Amino acid sequence: MYDYLVVGSGLYGAIFAHEAKKSGKTVLVVDKRPNIAGNVYTEKIEGINVHKYGAHIFHTNNKKVWNYVTQFAEFNRFTNSPVANYKGELYSLPFNMYTFNKMWSVVTPEEAAAKIEEQRKEAGIIEPENLEEQAISLVGRDIYKKLIKGYTEKQWGRDCKDLPSFIIKRLPVRLTFDNNYFNALYQGIPVGGYTKLVANLLEGIEVRLNTDYLENKKELDAIADKVVYTGPIDAYFGYTLGTLEYRSVRFETETLDKPNFQGNAAVNYTDRETPWTRIIEHKWFEFGKDEEGNDLPKTVISREFSSEWKPGDEPYYPVNDEKNSALYGKYKELTEKEEKVIFGGRLGEYKYYDMDQVIAAALQCCDQELH
Ligand SMILES: Cc1cc2nc3c(=O)[nH]c(=O)nc-3n(C[C@H](O)[C@H](O)[C@H](O)COP(=O)(O)OP(=O)(O)OC[C@H]3O[C@@H](n4cnc5c(N)ncnc54)[C@H](O)[C@@H]3O)c2cc1C
Repeated sequence: MYDYLVVGSGLYGAIFAHEAKKSGKTVLVVDKRPNIAGNVYTEKIEGINVHKYGAHIFHTNNKKVWNYVTQFAEFNRFTNSPVANYKGELYSLPFNMYTFNKMWSVVTPEEAAAKIEEQRKEAGIIEPENLEEQAISLVGRDIYKKLIKGYTEKQWGRDCKDLPSFIIKRLPVRLTFDNNYFNALYQGIPVGGYTKLVANLLEGIEVRLNTDYLENKKELDAIADKVVYTGPIDAYFGYTLGTLEYRSVRFETETLDKPNFQGNAAVNYTDRETPWTRIIEHKWFEFGKDEEGNDLPKTVISREFSSEWKPGDEPYYPVNDEKNSALYGKYKELTEKEEKVIFGGRLGEYKYYDMDQVIAAALQCCDQELH
């Protein structure tokens, strides 16, 4: 018998398991995948930690979370500074003085602000009726055309004219030379990869991989007092009320016989014609490129494509629209009858969580449950 059965070895499950063991409880972790770490799983290819389920950059303003997570890994000083490629023209992101200088050859913040204002006025949009009008009314036509339009259309699979204006509420414009994408006090990538971080959390804990909880529910329930379930909430209830939807991404990963493909971890392709939205070059998340600090002769890249999600696909981003939120609400009601089960994490709560938020949520659950 175990005190807890933890379903899922992602950040939420691994943190709960770690804290439960620390409190003297017995824990078994099961995961249906052949590896631990859930969505943050990194795999070493050609000496490079490849982010298999999408690029993950840790960033937080939460000191408690930062102090917690850095017990399990050393973090490097990676700063997310994506580059936009518009038909071969390169621009700095997020929109800042480097971007404006490249776009219009303006030099001072006053000149940049005046240019944006001039373009906003020129457009003469008072009440934006769609996303295109909204974006132009916020940043003017040049930035919209080169840096927003194509990327957004690929992401949503629709024209910006056919998308509602509320999708973009604000478009931050920085009148400083600052390419740091995240406004976070703490930022970085765990040295050695996220899998190592999660392995450290799970040290000394029994983990069974390739084990689907739902397929073995009866036997697994019988050996634990309580269950912490971090899989999809609708799957737990056999999709009886319907299927929750996700937005999906498809990755095409390739090893190239060259040491440097694009010179940056993330390059966004902001034209409509290029079919992918981004290319990630994984080695640039790390410093010294490998543990020994030698240059590696090869590099690994992942092209990202926005794709329609269908049941059975990997669930990535929950769609928190009215329809899906209402359906989630109904599943949530059903959880009240499951007294032995705690539902947590991005799939168990059907909620987009950044890593720091999922860590905070897991720690809060531990506080309530274990202390
Ligand atoms: C493409 C993408 C990019 C992201 N980039 C960032 C980023 O840059 N920065 C950031 O802070 N956050 C990022 N995130 C968010 C981050 O991935 C999540 O916050 C985090 O991984 C959630 O952890 P979790 O434990 O809740 O879920 P998961 O990591 O999904 O873990 C759930 C686990 O449960 C297992 N499981 C499910 N069902 C069963 C079952 N029936 N039986 C057994 N096991 C089961 C799964 O196999 C999985 O291992 C990104 C998310 C996505 C989708």
